[in-house]
Amino acid sequence: MDKIEHIGIAVKNLEKSNALFASLFGKPHYKEEEVLSEGVQTSFFNSGPNKIELLAATTSDSPIAKFLEKKGEGIHHIAFAVEDIKQEIARLKEEGFTVLNEIPKKGADNKWVAFLHPKSTNGVLIELCQEIK
Ligand code: ZN
Repeated sequence: MDKIEHIGIAVKNLEKSNALFASLFGKPHYKEEEVLSEGVQTSFFNSGPNKIELLAATTSDSPIAKFLEKKGEGIHHIAFAVEDIKQEIARLKEEGFTVLNEIPKKGADNKWVAFLHPKSTNGVLIELCQEIK
């Protein structure tokens, strides 16, 4: 596993949060993208070498909607860059982690993604992401 690729933050109102984070970082987001399969609208900000992904639900039964209901707004996941996502999934399974999707899915911002269940990672949802080349 490589560097932190981004941190995902669940928000209720993407428009308001876009304005909030734009004023926090002193510049607007560089991209907004819907991931239909996940029922989520994402928005990406850069701050120096760091990247923040805002996530807002687009359907009431999406994972983000459920997260917001249970926990409210806040940090939703930490994403790590990986070179070979399939190999990393196999390694982590071998190590006893619960992989939520063993077949990588197409995520936002041109990435293959897979998630580890927070029950197997001390309550933190971990995303693996590999740049699609
Ligand atoms: Zn993410």
